[in-house]
Amino acid sequence: MRAGKIASLCLVLIVSAVGTALSFSASTVGWLAAMPPMLRLCLLFGVLGLVCAALLLPVGVALDRTVTKLRSYIEATGAAEGQTATFYGPKWVGPISGALIGAVEQFRQREQTLRNELREVEIRRRVSEAEQRQTEAVLHALRDGVLVTNAFNDIVVVNEAAGRIFGFDHTQALHQPLEQLVDDDRLCQLIKDTSETANFAHRRHVEHDITPDSSETGEGGKEKRIFDVTLVCVENHKHEVAGVVTILHDVTREREISQMKSDFVSKASHELRTPLSSIHAYVEMLVDGEAADDEARNEFYRIIQNETDRLGRLLDNMLNISRIEAGIVQIERENVDLRSLIDRAIDTLEPQAKEKEISLHTKVAEVDLTVEGDADMLFQVVLNLISNSVKYTPAGGRITVSADSDNLTRSVVLAVSDTGLGIPPDSIPKLFDKFYRVENYKRVAKGSGLGLSLCKHIVETLHHGQIGVESELGMGSKFWVTIPMRYAGSQAAA
Ligand code: ADP
Repeated sequence: MRAGKIASLCLVLIVSAVGTALSFSASTVGWLAAMPPMLRLCLLFGVLGLVCAALLLPVGVALDRTVTKLRSYIEATGAAEGQTATFYGPKWVGPISGALIGAVEQFRQREQTLRNELREVEIRRRVSEAEQRQTEAVLHALRDGVLVTNAFNDIVVVNEAAGRIFGFDHTQALHQPLEQLVDDDRLCQLIKDTSETANFAHRRHVEHDITPDSSETGEGGKEKRIFDVTLVCVENHKHEVAGVVTILHDVTREREISQMKSDFVSKASHELRTPLSSIHAYVEMLVDGEAADDEARNEFYRIIQNETDRLGRLLDNMLNISRIEAGIVQIERENVDLRSLIDRAIDTLEPQAKEKEISLHTKVAEVDLTVEGDADMLFQVVLNLISNSVKYTPAGGRITVSADSDNLTRSVVLAVSDTGLGIPPDSIPKLFDKFYRVENYKRVAKGSGLGLSLCKHIVETLHHGQIGVESELGMGSKFWVTIPMRYAGSQAAA
């Protein structure tokens, strides 16, 4: 730098000396004096130009170096965050470089701030994306259908369940008009009404029947479902209607259960009332002295006793069924020989059969008929089936109890066949339902309609067997039961 300055200074001095010498000697040197004034002026300006160039040269060199240093300074400070660099340069460029460095520093800080903001925005974007994915996962995992429409009744959010209910592909549903996808005029109207009311504080609940698209449900036929529909009108930041959130909760099963409960209560109270009214009537007659003699009185006592027994059996059956259904029955598992159960049941029912002139036969194979189970409960099954045959077989009929083992299924098969009334075909599917009785046979024999239901529970729920019936109206019936020979203890029912 210093060499440049000295060189420039020397050049200035030489040129100035030559110029001055030429100027002073102009009057003495003949050829210069002889020069036209114009040429002499040009020569003077040329000399002056050279002097100026010599003076500006170091300035240019210094500026060039300053700019180079500034560039490397900026590059150095921008290379890594928080890095500082020291700028050295000629003193006279100090103010310029100071201003430039200040501007660069400001720019660098601004750039840093923007970088930080960008990083924050990026983090926030990722967090919100993750949250959105979580919300979508929750939304699609819901069994309730969720449908959100905007103020123009276009679908803006929809989950899989809603797609299933209305039979559309939820991935293709966004921004589609509601009516185009939901083929349910009443529901569309409900959503529109909710939007028009603009009542943001109110949650509307409506019970609504929907028949889902069979192709979507994968079920054979269209089955009506009952939904509890919740409609909420939502507002935007300007307190205007932003749209409507519709949630569809399937309450079909709940309604069925509550219907079953109320049916059970009404049937149970009806069945209980019959023996109770009978007991009440006979007690009243006894109190009023309407029994003329001891024989009549004894007859009344016998009826009361029978009705009381019936009442007790009814309550036992109801209790047993509900305990098995609730899964709280502990059964005593032991080796049970079905042959002995059949003999005991026949001994018990022989008098009743004889009374009706019904012949009882057994056809028990000479094989091992041992099953693992609860002897008392299995006895109830055998007794109930033979007792029903006695009840629903007219006088002179025939009942055959057969038992054999089926090595293929490793089970013992028991069957009770009669030549009785038979069962109407439309009653067969309902025969094992609680309280079901064939209407026309109610006058034939007393009963509660709980016996077969209890048998089914004992056989299928507690012993993992099967129970069924084959019957032809007027030709008799055959009730059959299969019980596994050896029951795997690990599958024991609660
Ligand atoms: P119940 O106490 O009325 O006999 P069950 O549950 O044992 O109750 O039987 C239900 C109904 O099934 C009976 O009411 C009767 O209508 C019909 N049923 C049962 N067994 C026979 C049978 N062997 N022959 C004809 N009908 C039968």
